[in-house]
Formats: sequence, structure tokens, C-alpha cells
Amino acid sequence: MFESLSDRLTGALKDLRGKGRLSPADIDATARQIRLALLEADVALPVVRGFVARIKERAKGAEVSAALNPAQQVVKIVNEELVGILGGQTRRLQFAKTPPTVIMLAGLQGSGKTTLAGKLALWLREQGHTPLLVACDLQRPGAVSQLQIVGERAGAAVFAPHPGTSVGGAGGVPITVDDPVLVARAGIDEARRKQYDVLIVDTAGRLGIDAELMGQAAAIRDAVSPDEILFVLDAMVGQDAVATAEAFRDGVGFTGVVLTKLDGDARGGAALSVREVTGTPIMFASSGEKLEDFDVFHPDRMAGRILG
Ligand code: GDP
Repeated sequence: MFESLSDRLTGALKDLRGKGRLSPADIDATARQIRLALLEADVALPVVRGFVARIKERAKGAEVSAALNPAQQVVKIVNEELVGILGGQTRRLQFAKTPPTVIMLAGLQGSGKTTLAGKLALWLREQGHTPLLVACDLQRPGAVSQLQIVGERAGAAVFAPHPGTSVGGAGGVPITVDDPVLVARAGIDEARRKQYDVLIVDTAGRLGIDAELMGQAAAIRDAVSPDEILFVLDAMVGQDAVATAEAFRDGVGFTGVVLTKLDGDARGGAALSVREVTGTPIMFASSGEKLEDFDVFHPDRMAGRILG
């Protein structure tokens, strides 16, 4: 992903090399090329506008420096602005003062939530945590067993009562299990009882945004008061990414974004817009189907990768 954007940006910046001094026309020409490269990569228009305006302003005002020639200075500015739209600092997971920490996953069907549950569980286990996966996607046939499979691979326990059975609710009152809100609550009880310190709540997704999906996710949120709500975004989806992110922000709210399928060959620019558009940091990146293809998202490393 981002190969074409990367080629176009580095190409635009290469044209400045060897120039002793940059005229306003040089800067305008470079800014135009950068604008085109970003638009072609599907970066959202308001994000492109702000980005290019800042580059122009900073490049024109750049002090002559002993250490960097003008071309290098523009590269530095583009790099810094790219790190900026990607969120600046790395945003770490916030753990609850009193366990269990509750992490809820939200996003469209197919975005990679269930896979992410396994990836997060493995990542947390490697850091000494004992996560419990809670199956609240009771909509999609096979979602519960898929969570059990990823849980097993990650070496993490899964709380997934079979439909038709009952689980002990508060005070031992049995509850039915076709209601994801009740399962989520029972999951918290289970974590407290068995001392799991992190709860990862997988929720149902639809192929498109709909009110029922949002309502259900909001009800689960209200039932478990998550410490983190991670919005899972398939980086391959293109322009729709921004609208989907805005719908989830307004319907459920989230504290962080996880970009998935960064190993794909789509243009990916929409995913680069999500931080700026929603004001919410990108926290993790998934780049493959294997549980190990996963890491904390570092804005500076991603910017470095894009600029080659
Ligand atoms: P959910 O419906 O949101 O729970 O999505 P799933 O976790 O079932 O993922 C949907 C599909 O995407 C599955 O085939 C996953 O193996 C695949 N997938 C998930 N994350 C990634 C990723 O980072 N890269 C690639 N290439 N595939 C992924």
C-alpha cells in the first residue's frame, strides 16, 4: 500500500534537488504535484487542502539553513506535516486503574474485527496480560466459532456461550445469550471472577452503516463502559472510509482507530485522512491475515515509509 503515493511524492521532491534557492514558482509547482499525488491516492479533499497550504507557507518562510539545502528543507517539512496528519505522537493503549480494562471493537463487517481480537489478544499476552475475548457478534453465522479459533491461536480464553444455553447473570440469575448486551455484561462478570485483566469485546458489523447496528453497538458500549473503543477500518475501502468513520464517530464514538489490510494494494489515502477527519488517533496497524502481522501504529515510521 502507498507505493504509488510514495513514488509520486518522492518524484515531486526529487525535482527540487540541486536547486540552490527555491523561487515561489518552484514551491508552487511542487505543491501542485503534492496535491495531485494526495488526491490520486484518495486522501480526503479537506485534508489535502490543509496539508498543501501548510507546506507552501512553511516552504516559503523556511530559513536558509547551514545544515539543509532548500530541497532537503522541503522534504523535512513534508515529512513533518505527514507525521502531523497521521497523529504526531504514538498513542498507547490506556489501561483501567482497576482491571479489567475493557476494549470494544467496532466497524463494518469484513473490516477485520474478529481477526484483530486475536491479534490484540496475542499482543497483550506477550506483554504479560491475560485477555478474555467476548463474543458479542451474534449476528453473523460463524462469527462466534471464528472468534474461538482466533482465541485458540492467540492462546486466549473466549467467553462465548452457545445460543440456547444460559449464563449466570448478576446474582446467578440465568440470562439468554442471543442478546449481545447481556453477553457483554456477563463477560465482565466472568473476567472479574476469573481475574482476566483485559476484556476484548467483538461486536457485530454490517456491510453498510445502519441505525440498528449503531444502536446495538451503542447499547453494548453503555453496558460495559469501555476504556477504549477501537474503530476498525479496512484501509482498502477507499473514499468510503471517511464517511464510515464519521458515522461510527457520531453513532458510537471511538477513542482510537485500527487500520487493517495495510498489506493490500489499494491507494490507501482515505485511511491517511481518518485521523485528521475524526480527530481520533490511529493506534494499531494490521498488515496481514496472520496474528503476528500487527503492530502499534507509529506516525513517524509510516511517514518515513511513504517518503521512501
Ligand atoms: P470482521 O467481519 O470485521 O470480524 O472481519 P474478519 O476478522 O472476519 O476479517 C475479514 C477478512 O479479512 C478475513 O478473511 C481476514 O482474514 C481478513 N483480514 C483481516 N485483517 C487483515 C489484514 O490486515 N490483511 C489482510 N490481507 N487480510 C486481513
